[in-house]
Amino acid sequence: MNKDKIWLSSPHMGGNELKYINKAFEENWIAPLGPNVNEFEKDIQKYLDGEQNQGIEVAALSSGTAALHLALILAGVRRDDEVICQSMTFAASANPIVYQGATPVFIDSEKKTLNLCPVQLEKAIKDRIAKGKKPKAIIAVHLYGMPYQVDEIHRIASEYEIPVIEDSAEALGSTYKNRKCGSFGDFAVLSFNGNKIITTSGGGALITRNLSDKKKAVFLATQARDEAPHYQHSEIGYNYRLSNISAGIGRGQMEVIDKRVSQRREMFQFYVNLFRGIDGISVFDEPDVEFFSNHWLSIIFIDKQKLGIDRETLRKHLEAENIECRPLWKPMHLQPVFMNCPFYGTDVAEDLFKNGLCLPSGSNLAPKDRDRIKDAILSCLKN
Ligand SMILES: *Cc1c(COP(=O)(O)O)cnc(C)c1O
Repeated sequence: MNKDKIWLSSPHMGGNELKYINKAFEENWIAPLGPNVNEFEKDIQKYLDGEQNQGIEVAALSSGTAALHLALILAGVRRDDEVICQSMTFAASANPIVYQGATPVFIDSEKKTLNLCPVQLEKAIKDRIAKGKKPKAIIAVHLYGMPYQVDEIHRIASEYEIPVIEDSAEALGSTYKNRKCGSFGDFAVLSFNGNKIITTSGGGALITRNLSDKKKAVFLATQARDEAPHYQHSEIGYNYRLSNISAGIGRGQMEVIDKRVSQRREMFQFYVNLFRGIDGISVFDEPDVEFFSNHWLSIIFIDKQKLGIDRETLRKHLEAENIECRPLWKPMHLQPVFMNCPFYGTDVAEDLFKNGLCLPSGSNLAPKDRDRIKDAILSCLKN
């Protein structure tokens, strides 16, 4: 194969990242703390707070997974507890529940946003309570950058007084009713992994609603050292803090976040135009004006009956052209490792998984890349 690979979503530097990294070198702040970490946290805080000025706090961590783990600890999740989690998501949303020795209870999606179905959510809460165990937390995900039904989900959560952990790993820059995703939950989580809308090469953040939760998170993330001249511990700690080098990349990336959002949305518009008038392919879009997606990944759904070919045929055709595409996240209740966990729902997430395809969505795709994608898709549909 001689054509360059077109990736689903690859890192896209803004230009100033090296400046901040060099500063760290000059000052010898090559450590999991330092000025870049503090400034990066401030950048995120300012960005998420917006005009609502909600007084949220940010702890920069080594990954989104670490942030989810600490959120569960701060929400009081312990051994043998149950935690509700969206089934259709990346495994990292659910794995930290098991790190705590708790059990995930998986919930189906609704078709409007692909996220937590409010009806199944409420059904599950009632049933778990009836069975004698009230869920300790709800993990709600803004999948592919599309906000979940925020009002509806949070109404149910507050009715039953269950904290929401907002998994906003894929949704930095998305908004619901003009408020930024990552600012809704009792705790929220961001990821700066290499494939996300901005990256620190590996990193994440925990968003809290007050300074004492942030302080507790940072304490746990730095090995839970009590105040003493020697190493004194009365709790189990973790090594979850972001490094000052990675945070330097993050500072450069935060300068271009709005640009990255518009570029991803342009890629999405490219697909809307490409598939307009093609019967059997629908591009997954915002349900109404209250939802604003960063369109981290653009997604299509294929109706095999109408189109004449199925998802796998198209995916393999693009793969042969060295264009990376992926099926949607395989729901957690269908994963071997979670087979014995409770699930509430029908076949909504399963169908989305069967017929959906994520297309190359990077903010750095050039016009010639788009031409190659377009030609490859059209040639597949012609055959
Ligand atoms: C990427 C991702 C995570 C985990 O983030 P890492 O930084 O890779 O640990 C969690 N949840 C979702 C939905 C993600 O896409």
